[in-house]
Amino acid sequence: MFEKVLIANRGEIALRIHRACKEMGIATVAVHSTADADAMHVRLADESVCIGPPMVRESYLNIPAILSAASVTGADAIHPGIGFMAENARFAELVQEHGFSFIGPEPEHIRIMGDKVAARRAVIEHDLPIVPGSDGAVPDMEAGRALARKIGYPVLVKAAAGGGGKGMKVAGDDKGFEEAFSLAKAEAGAAFGNDEVYIEKYLDRPRHIEIQLLGDHHGHCVHFGERDCSIQRRHQKVVEEAPSPALNASARDRIGRLAARVASDIGYRGLGTMEFLYQDGEFYFIEMNTRLQVEHTISEMITGVDLVREQIRVASGAPMGYAQDDITFSGHAIECRINAENPATFTPRPGKVENYHAPGGLGVRVDSAIYDGYMIPPYYDSLIAKLVVSGKNRNEALLRLKRALGEFVIGGVDTLLPLHEKIVAQPEFIDGNYDIHWLEKMLEVEVLGKVKDQE
Ligand code: ADP
Repeated sequence: MFEKVLIANRGEIALRIHRACKEMGIATVAVHSTADADAMHVRLADESVCIGPPMVRESYLNIPAILSAASVTGADAIHPGIGFMAENARFAELVQEHGFSFIGPEPEHIRIMGDKVAARRAVIEHDLPIVPGSDGAVPDMEAGRALARKIGYPVLVKAAAGGGGKGMKVAGDDKGFEEAFSLAKAEAGAAFGNDEVYIEKYLDRPRHIEIQLLGDHHGHCVHFGERDCSIQRRHQKVVEEAPSPALNASARDRIGRLAARVASDIGYRGLGTMEFLYQDGEFYFIEMNTRLQVEHTISEMITGVDLVREQIRVASGAPMGYAQDDITFSGHAIECRINAENPATFTPRPGKVENYHAPGGLGVRVDSAIYDGYMIPPYYDSLIAKLVVSGKNRNEALLRLKRALGEFVIGGVDTLLPLHEKIVAQPEFIDGNYDIHWLEKMLEVEVLGKVKDQE
């Protein structure tokens, strides 16, 4: 087992990884930018190293600085967390070449799955159903339009290197296709330095269902059930729950075992998530994330397994030591992403946190690195807290969520807390009756309602 782990990240996820390490008796090294000198992940770590100025290119994405920090502190492994270097295959390679263990999958798997066109090809070979679409990247507008007609409108033009919902545009007809194609290409080039795009049939009312997977270095792969992440805005998750209100036990078992079988066939190691769209009883693979996910918490609450601990264990080469049937599911869990953003416009709102009070009590978990008086810096992701509730069943979890949201106080900055209070009060959400477009439709009605009131 590792003795010292360097955590190449910040915020709540750095703290989450630190907590797993401490419980395993592993020392931690935090890295931070000058803007994060007072951050909680720095305060709690056993050691810390400043790796550069606030801008991410010069600090959290600064590979030589991160590797030097690992070297001078004598760390034997590096955990990339989420975002930043987590899906950078070259980083994983360099970590290994410099003699450290990378707490994540093999660089080869990061590379294949990071290119969504390659990922689609890889999983088709293993009989995983994908969203109907192009076989590879679309070379030009003409070819794209011909293909879009063949697939049938509406279609979605997507960036091969995509992530965070960027470089994704819907086209309803030939005319719309021209615009969608150029916009998606331009956005992809700017965001990822790679403007390759591909086309998928645009599904009109799917749910986003993803399967949490774990593989060890001995060819063994298991799943930890599904998460329903259909409450989204601009293709970004806002609320997640497990299990999905839309699946029964046999559908869950079928997709879970299929995903684990494919992961095992490709020799996948570490934590990973296969994402699917689910419509009319059918699953369609959209992508695989080769890292820990923000919403891993809800899978932990219904299985009682510390997934970060397991991720670290398998990265050290330890055999998993349990089989699929040893993983049992109980109760229900819901996570709300609390971003420092205006809850109507979703514009980031960095600033000073005042009157901070986190909810508590049975079945309530808050993963956050903020505190009273904390200055939220403007340079990074706006996620400042995750409120996770669990209950014996969905109804209990919902009542608990409502209660916990009512207790949560984050003053001084705008947050998504009022939006979450609105969501939990909606009959469709209470009934579990929603798809990936539901939240945006609800927000539209809200805005229209306000305009009407003003008239
Ligand atoms: P990213 O990597 O940018 O997050 P994904 O491929 O994971 O992109 O898709 C993000 C979200 O976009 C999905 O959860 C879903 O809401 C929406 N989406 C993706 N593909 C489709 C599709 N073919 N039809 C309808 N919605 C889609």
